[in-house]
Amino acid sequence: MSTNGHRAPVEHATGKRHRMRRCALAVCAALALGAVPASIVRAQQAANAAGAAGAAIQTAAAQALHAQIDERAKAIEPQLVAWRRDIHQHPELGNLETRTAALVADHLRKLGMEVKTGVGVTGVVGLLKGGKPGPVVALRADMDALPVKEQVDLPFASKTKGVYLGKEVDVMHACGHDAHTAMLMATAEVLAGMKDQLPGSVKFIFQAAEESPATFEPDGEKIWGAKQMVKEGVMRDPKVDAVFGLHVSSAYPSGWIAWRAGPAMSAVDQFWIDVTGKQTHGARPWSGIDPIVASAQIITGIQTIVSRQSNIGLEPAVVTIGAINGGNRMNIIPDKVAMLGTIRTYDEGMKKDIHKRLATTAEHIAESSGAKAKVRVVELYNAVVNPPQLVAQMAPTLERVAGAGNFGVQPKSQASEDFSFYQQEAPGMFFYLGVTPRNEDPNTAPSNHSPLFHVDEPAMLYGVRALSNMAVDYMLAANKN
Ligand SMILES: [Zn+2]
Ligand SMILES: [Zn+2]
Repeated sequence: MSTNGHRAPVEHATGKRHRMRRCALAVCAALALGAVPASIVRAQQAANAAGAAGAAIQTAAAQALHAQIDERAKAIEPQLVAWRRDIHQHPELGNLETRTAALVADHLRKLGMEVKTGVGVTGVVGLLKGGKPGPVVALRADMDALPVKEQVDLPFASKTKGVYLGKEVDVMHACGHDAHTAMLMATAEVLAGMKDQLPGSVKFIFQAAEESPATFEPDGEKIWGAKQMVKEGVMRDPKVDAVFGLHVSSAYPSGWIAWRAGPAMSAVDQFWIDVTGKQTHGARPWSGIDPIVASAQIITGIQTIVSRQSNIGLEPAVVTIGAINGGNRMNIIPDKVAMLGTIRTYDEGMKKDIHKRLATTAEHIAESSGAKAKVRVVELYNAVVNPPQLVAQMAPTLERVAGAGNFGVQPKSQASEDFSFYQQEAPGMFFYLGVTPRNEDPNTAPSNHSPLFHVDEPAMLYGVRALSNMAVDYMLAANKN
């Protein structure tokens, strides 16, 4: 893939190559990123370069701040790596991130910030007031790990166990939230060191349970993570003017930055279909109602929602049945079949339309055989949508941080992120940071959520610089207007 080779390959921390294996985990907001086709990357680079020049902030004062960020970020890099390794070795599941939260809160307090803890269960919020008036920029990192048994050969590999929905599990930072937390801690230190020069304030949001909580299953009623922090007022007092966040990804080479204007990550919904028939002997199907055959027809019928009924010219959509359970013996037609599935969409109207069609399809097909289908949909995360105007404003910053030939467009991701809840409160931009070592192929490197997922640590410096520069450039642009 031609996205490799722009820089010299970076050695992975262990110097070893990992076995490549895909993760079988299908729970939560799994990252499922396609690697970037070279043609798209080139087209985006050209488009970015063309649109960027005019918007960049190039005053001497801005350049001095940028240089200072780079210097401070470089100076803190050993600590950044140490934090990441410490957090990696001590992963905590959603809503149980007490050790991580304490580490974060202590650090923010040492930097002289106002700190709130216990926001959204274990979330931590720090407010850095700049020396000059200006906007409030929020930067967000998530802190939670996954129920995955680490298979990466690292001296600081996780051996931690935890409890996930009542069961003992192995725990691993298989989505890179350890890197997110460490990068935001470092960003806090970089910006705190320059606070007198900052024309505005920065709110540091360290969030719990992005991957969903370990303590309860989503039921459509209880909330968690970003949604809960928003409900508890994280975007108010002071009101946030813009919010930025990033996700590390195996789909891009180390240090590569990728973003997309408009819908960038899909909304995720979960649904249940319960089909009820009438139990009878397997040899005499006519004396009952067979929910297994009805379920088979429903599964086939559902395929036409995306392929025949939704306007996929507008946005793509996915409807998947991931589980089907019914019956226990070859010669008993059971009473019930239960199915479980997920819907991924990028457009709110399409999403609601698919919900309706799902119910209509399942109910009417069941009815045709005398069975009954009950459909229940729970909306989990909305689509991550990056406002084009904000993306145009911030692109020059990311281009400068990434460096020529080290950034590109992010294809629409079918992964989901609760960063979308912050974007409903203020303009927000979410982007990807590549973490696959330069001597590995991002197309085949173990993906996020894999037990073999690994982060090339030098990439983290790009993340710190990106977040710090975005905060500063947003403030400078607001003060110029
Ligand atoms: Zn994840
Ligand atoms: Zn994640």
